[in-house]
Amino acid sequence: MKLNIKDKFSKELPADPVLQNTRRQVRNACFSFVMPKQPTNPSLLHVSAEMAKAIGLTGSITSKDFLDVFSGTKVIEGTKPYAMCYGGHQFGSWAGQLGDGRAINLAEVEHEGKNWALQLKGAGETPYSRTADGLAVLRSSIREYLCSEAMYYLGVPTTRALSLVLSGDKVLRDVMYDGNPAYEKGAIVCRVAPSFIRFGNFEILAAQEDVKTLRALVDFTIKHHFPHLGKPSKEVYIAFFEEVAAKSLEMVLHWQRVGFVHGVMNTDNMSILGLTIDYGPYGWLEGYDHGWTPNTTDRAHRRYRYSTQPQVVLWNLLKLANALYPLIEEAEPLQAVLGTYQDELKVAYPIMMKSKLGLFEKDGKDQELIDTLEAVLQRSETDMTIFFRLLAKVKANDAQNGLDVVKEAFYDPREIEGDIRKSWEDWFSAYRKRLGKEGKSDTERATAMNLVNPKYVLRNYMAQLAIDAAEKGDYTLLDELFNLLKKPYDEQPNMQKWFAKRPEWARNKVGCSMLSCSS
Ligand code: AMP
Ligand code: MG
Repeated sequence: MKLNIKDKFSKELPADPVLQNTRRQVRNACFSFVMPKQPTNPSLLHVSAEMAKAIGLTGSITSKDFLDVFSGTKVIEGTKPYAMCYGGHQFGSWAGQLGDGRAINLAEVEHEGKNWALQLKGAGETPYSRTADGLAVLRSSIREYLCSEAMYYLGVPTTRALSLVLSGDKVLRDVMYDGNPAYEKGAIVCRVAPSFIRFGNFEILAAQEDVKTLRALVDFTIKHHFPHLGKPSKEVYIAFFEEVAAKSLEMVLHWQRVGFVHGVMNTDNMSILGLTIDYGPYGWLEGYDHGWTPNTTDRAHRRYRYSTQPQVVLWNLLKLANALYPLIEEAEPLQAVLGTYQDELKVAYPIMMKSKLGLFEKDGKDQELIDTLEAVLQRSETDMTIFFRLLAKVKANDAQNGLDVVKEAFYDPREIEGDIRKSWEDWFSAYRKRLGKEGKSDTERATAMNLVNPKYVLRNYMAQLAIDAAEKGDYTLLDELFNLLKKPYDEQPNMQKWFAKRPEWARNKVGCSMLSCSS
């Protein structure tokens, strides 16, 4: 197995001089060297062949060499694994040092002009593991593995996944934090991204008033990941922040488009590249509900519910602005960027929603059409994915009832009566009228909508079914879903069974709609 190793982060940035793998507060450094834990009896469950190709991996993905490296058994020649130091604001409060507590970076590789950092998640403790074990269980690893690749194919900026390995070790977990711990199968995912640097990497250095290392990290990030911005200067730092804001906005708009709820949008889970990162208690909107969050840890305040995600990104950007301030020492340009974010959000969100409706021309009443739709969608439980996919079948000049076209999306069709029915009929009539102002034929519009509204997403219960089977040693469903989600916008008629509402058994099931942090 050969890779074009080009380590940058660990070669160009200051390392923690302590080499022992002991928990500690790290200062004046961006990372600590640490070796992965030797797994007892590793076995390969799945590989993303596309990802292997993208990183330029030569040699067989079924070889012992591959398993050795991506289970943490063997270190790639000439590399020194490390854990990154970062802090973060968790649920609105500064949490101090966090860091890669269960992630170990193996190396960075270059292929076809792209940089890829390879990181094992669940490969054992690091100086940042705090009170936890540095391990990951099969269930959460399958969720990250399947979802990150699915998001990529949906066109959402995201970290990716190369491999999923069983460690052969048992891991103790209290799934719902209710005093009922049990042993589960341990697993390791190799995640891949151009960089895993987070907002929190900058925040920790600012909090420590270590401006020298902060500057080194910002300069490094610009040099390797925003090279077009040029040589670092105050203006370039501002431009850098502006780009991070723009990329983060783009990311969160994609989340809103496909109905993805991250669940833990703490600043340590915000990628500086605007990638979706850290797939924990995420979930997919089934019933369209602005207030929904899959994260039971956040049930009381619903800070990270679906509808607040764009505002949370803004809040997180403010924390990043504070961290960058020592290099800029002027609040006004940073505030201006935050203002721009708000302005752009106001413009971009309706454009995104309009694209879901197949509306591409300008019209003064579109906001009303969006607002009334969002309201009526929430009056009875309506499946987001099915609704928007079926909406493409509405015909502009056919007075047929639009409700018939989308009826499969309603969880309880008996609710579509009286006032709710009237609201829907009014909406469809306004919608059809509006379609008449578009220059597209019904077929052209449907084609455009089907590129925006996925037919298949990783519904919460689908991941759970794959997990349940995998726990019993059957990985066929894992593979089926992995392949299904590579073409989320295609009809795939033989996969129609996954174009279905959440079954009733999954409504309140742990793992389906109820998940907790750091499983
Ligand atoms: P998360 O909520 O998954 O983003 O994690 C927040 C912090 O807790 C990060 O610093 C993680 O590295 C750390 N963490 C989560 N799970 C574990 C674990 N099992 N062992 C060690 N650290 C962990
Ligand atoms: Mg995290």
